[in-house]
Amino acid sequence: MSETSPKLRAELEGIPTYKPGKPAAAGGPVAYKLSSNENPYPPLPGVMETVAACAASFNRYPDMMCTGLMDELSERFAVPVTHLATGTGSVGVAQQLIQATSGPGDEVIYAWRSFEAYPIITQISGATSVQVPLTPGDVHDLDAMADAITERTRLIFVCNPNNPTGTVVRRAELERFLDRVPKHVLVVLDEAYREFIRDPEVPDGVELYRDRPNVCVLRTFSKAYGLAGLRVGFAIAHEPVAAALRKTAVPFGVSQIAQEAAIASLRAEDELIGRVGSLVCERNRVVEGLRGQGWTVPETQANFVWLRLGERTVAFAQACEQAGVVVRPFPGEGVRVTVGEAEANDIFLKVAEGFPKEK
Ligand SMILES: *Cc1c(COP(=O)(O)O)cnc(C)c1O
Repeated sequence: MSETSPKLRAELEGIPTYKPGKPAAAGGPVAYKLSSNENPYPPLPGVMETVAACAASFNRYPDMMCTGLMDELSERFAVPVTHLATGTGSVGVAQQLIQATSGPGDEVIYAWRSFEAYPIITQISGATSVQVPLTPGDVHDLDAMADAITERTRLIFVCNPNNPTGTVVRRAELERFLDRVPKHVLVVLDEAYREFIRDPEVPDGVELYRDRPNVCVLRTFSKAYGLAGLRVGFAIAHEPVAAALRKTAVPFGVSQIAQEAAIASLRAEDELIGRVGSLVCERNRVVEGLRGQGWTVPETQANFVWLRLGERTVAFAQACEQAGVVVRPFPGEGVRVTVGEAEANDIFLKVAEGFPKEK
């Protein structure tokens, strides 16, 4: 019997589709998007000018090696260029890390619930996801994650702070965990929200990577730096991991506009620090406001808050949308709400105030 369509890999069956945060509704009186952890600010000073100048030459391929950006990052983080790799957002780099380490029969461990890209990119590779539940306080259970390691384990994601709960793991417990992981298993510290951390006990992954060849740090320009739409992220890792990332990269994946915008954003650091500081103030205001209303909110070190609403999740998200803010529901579990413009945060707080706290 002849097949009626091209043969696709069996691994693709049943892959959950990535749900992007809903856009803000058009046409309403107010509509704020608090569903994708984006930065509410316009581009940092100098970035628009750089991008505009760069746009004149997009008939040309970009610099495939991202030389300028790599040099800038190398200096900033005091790491050799050979320990750096860029990609189409840090999700792109995460996918390359899986491609480089894991295939059918291999296991990838991560906390759950955590970043929704992890199960997708793991399943695409044919590897098996091992999801380790968060603690009742919505924090990574690092002991249980270490216990889950088998001889098939190839890669472990630690999302710090965790998306969507905002919770963190601290230095002592993370170091204890890393000491338990065999040297041939890659640990990926996904630090997409690093800039928003104010807890001094949360370690900088770049310091942990230095004397640990099996640790890779993922960073992105999408969140604090406000370049989500340009798709650029990077990894810091020892050889041979960084070299494997350069091998698995889609050629010319990071556009010249993204490269130049990233460099210009890194150079606008004073302004960046100010904006991140304002968002952290807003975050604290939102958390205190919610707690004052009687909500239980896990401590967040990111630019979003997590409300565990269980069966009432969808109703809460609908109430927010009717009031003019779009949040990110995880049906049956909770909502993740990005800290955005003060007016948007006020609307969210107002909805939360009027919503019943208990079943
Ligand atoms: C947003 C996010 C990223 C970054 O994604 P990009 O591809 O760089 O836009 C990575 N990891 C986590 C946990 C995130 O929330």
